[in-house]
Amino acid sequence: MIAKIKTIDKVPHLLSSRETVTLDAPAFVYLTLELPRAPKVELFVKEGDHVYFCQKIGVRHGSSFDLPIFSTVSGQVLGIEKHTSSSGKPANFLKVQNDFKDELDPEAKPRTAEEIAALTKEDVFNIVNDFGLTGLGGSGFPTIIKLKSSEKVDHILLNGVECEPYLNSDQTLMLNHAKEIIEGALILQKIYDCKDVRICVKGIHQDIVDHLNEVLAADYKDSGVTVALMKNFYPQGWEVAEIKTALNIEVASGKLPFAYGVLNLNVATAMSLYRAVALRLPMVERYATINGDGVAAPKDFLVRIGTLFTDVLPVVGGYTAEEGLRMSVGGPMMGSTVPNDDVVFSDLVTNVLVTKDHTVAESPCIRCGSCVLSCPTHLEPVLIMEAVKSNDRDRVKALKPLSCVECGLCTYVCTSGIRVTDYIRRAKILAKL
Ligand code: SF4
Ligand code: SF4
Repeated sequence: MIAKIKTIDKVPHLLSSRETVTLDAPAFVYLTLELPRAPKVELFVKEGDHVYFCQKIGVRHGSSFDLPIFSTVSGQVLGIEKHTSSSGKPANFLKVQNDFKDELDPEAKPRTAEEIAALTKEDVFNIVNDFGLTGLGGSGFPTIIKLKSSEKVDHILLNGVECEPYLNSDQTLMLNHAKEIIEGALILQKIYDCKDVRICVKGIHQDIVDHLNEVLAADYKDSGVTVALMKNFYPQGWEVAEIKTALNIEVASGKLPFAYGVLNLNVATAMSLYRAVALRLPMVERYATINGDGVAAPKDFLVRIGTLFTDVLPVVGGYTAEEGLRMSVGGPMMGSTVPNDDVVFSDLVTNVLVTKDHTVAESPCIRCGSCVLSCPTHLEPVLIMEAVKSNDRDRVKALKPLSCVECGLCTYVCTSGIRVTDYIRRAKILAKL
């Protein structure tokens, strides 16, 4: 159950403006320790130690890469506590007490323009590795692997499509940090000697398109960076759909964009690359949204990474019901349902959705085929579901569930209210056995 902090009768609506609230850093931050891809944690600090703002205080070891841990405040290490991770499971976090001085790590000195210009591709790769940059569009995939896999790059796409309903954080980022995103793109452009860079934005967001074009015309004329207009459908942000709209290239199932000379990164990842390279700073804050009809006043925030959801809840006026609320981290289509509100804003959390219970009762499949017609990867979800129900592993494998991108559309369109995507997830596990 979600904790009941405050109940408000007024029915809330989705965000109606682009106003963003900058939150003060909280009294305590909770830094993510182990991750599924990097489960072994090595801490360089212990309880009672002083840490600087942006100090590297540990590292998570994965099978083929490491992901460092940075403190997002200056203060004192208090110890390890369990909270709810963005996947909904309990996880360990390092608790740091904020001394409210933001005393910067002495190592975090900006590079000069000359130093940046002299960086080689290998230098940039080392920086990306040292700062453990990951895909900030939700994947958390290590950026270094993507960069190293991309040998010949003809097109760089920066994904600002953000096609799931309720999500705003990349839009807010593009409106407030266009220059840092473009500077990140220019670093990539130089190391790959790639002329064509496109920032992909939905055409319906005219304010963002106009703003990016103004910044490009004023300071980056003839840079090769342009704005590509994306369509208004879901899942336009899925990289295969994005590449098709931006470049008219069809990425075949099982292939990755780099096989077509395309490097595709989220706009927030581009900005984090700029900050790591130019400022020697890790990600310490993110734009995030608390949204849905379960909170009184949904808002966009700039929040310090490591802040607890419950510290922000009063700013959105509390909950709209005492019980029956549902909560997920991420969007309504691909987000993870969480069992309680003890959630931490980690670097991968851009949206917390709190809604009243809108669950539709399930009825038997009527074989309408809507799920088949909707699937962007051309699967037959109804057949996969039936194969899972009968535990027919050979049939499951033959239906290729591993191509599923878990967009959630088969559940969304199901006439009978069946959570079809859950069956596809089970099929993926069966297919790997
Ligand atoms: S979630 Fe459903 S609709 Fe989406 S890719 Fe997977 S099978 Fe297709
Ligand atoms: S959309 Fe639902 S009811 Fe229709 S075929 Fe697919 S699973 Fe069956």
